[in-house]
Amino acid sequence: MLAGAQSLIPLMKLRLSRPSALVDLNHVPHSAYIEAHDKHLRIGAMTRHAAIEDSPAAARIPILHDCAAGIADAQVRNMGTIGGSVAEADPNGDWAPVLIALGAEVESIGPGGRRTVPISQFITDAFTTVLGRADLIREIRVPTPGARCAGAYIAFKRCAPVYPTASVAVQVKMVDEDFCEDASVVLGCVGLTPVIAGEAAGALRGQAITPHAIERTAEAAMAAADPQADLRGSVDYKRLLIGALTRRALLAALARARGDHVEVSHEYVGR
Ligand SMILES: Cc1cc2nc3c(=O)[nH]c(=O)nc-3n(C[C@H](O)[C@H](O)[C@H](O)COP(=O)(O)OP(=O)(O)OC[C@H]3O[C@@H](n4cnc5c(N)ncnc54)[C@H](O)[C@@H]3O)c2cc1C
Repeated sequence: MLAGAQSLIPLMKLRLSRPSALVDLNHVPHSAYIEAHDKHLRIGAMTRHAAIEDSPAAARIPILHDCAAGIADAQVRNMGTIGGSVAEADPNGDWAPVLIALGAEVESIGPGGRRTVPISQFITDAFTTVLGRADLIREIRVPTPGARCAGAYIAFKRCAPVYPTASVAVQVKMVDEDFCEDASVVLGCVGLTPVIAGEAAGALRGQAITPHAIERTAEAAMAAADPQADLRGSVDYKRLLIGALTRRALLAALARARGDHVEVSHEYVGR
């Protein structure tokens, strides 16, 4: 299946993927759309990152804009698709942590009919999903966040057209300005799949948000991270990044839940 070709063609050039045939999904009608329904934002699999970045409907869930606007550079965003990113399940991909924090679902279609799976269960390992060989992702369904619900996503990158070194998605549901009813903290690039940092979320859930609670959340996120050392940094360095990104994403999410307009952008080396 060929969608935006931003991962598959590089893999074919490296001879890591050698398909005997390619099916170009770009000719499938009504496969790229962003539709706001009562309970969900429905995003067609062939929707480009750039279309989500520019979408007024998606902008109502600012964490989606944080993610779409920060993927690589304009060339990649104009071609790459959300369905391709989710199907690829690259441990360094930007979409999966954000969609898990939002509680999104993936609808696929194949010889066995349609099925809908929470994205937290859809990605099972690095570059591995529950999709069968003949299954296609049709749609990503994002639940519409309620009142006083908000999130933020921040990644740390060496430069724009590369995958992040570490990233954090935070989603909170507040009772009032201070008290958190529910939370989700999901880490990217520090595990074979996105890391759902349950203890970090637990440090917020049912708590008044104090500087101490924010610190406990950051520390729990650092403990949950399971990074590998590589050319982007050591294990300790990536853990420290997770702590810093968790604090920043959480503060942005809390401000948004209060109704403030907060622009979030990724952090880049040397900026
Ligand atoms: C220079 C560069 C930098 C990048 N940086 C980032 C980054 O910072 N963050 C990030 O998240 N991504 C990054 N990417 C990847 C980019 O986001 C890709 O768009 C994405 O990973 C794959 O989407 P695609 O539409 O290009 O899929 P393709 O490359 O066309 O396909 C990828 C895989 O998914 C399968 N597939 C595609 N669509 C479907 C579907 N609907 N159903 C079932 N299977 C499907 C294909 O068969 C293939 O196996 C980068 C890519 C490049 C080239």
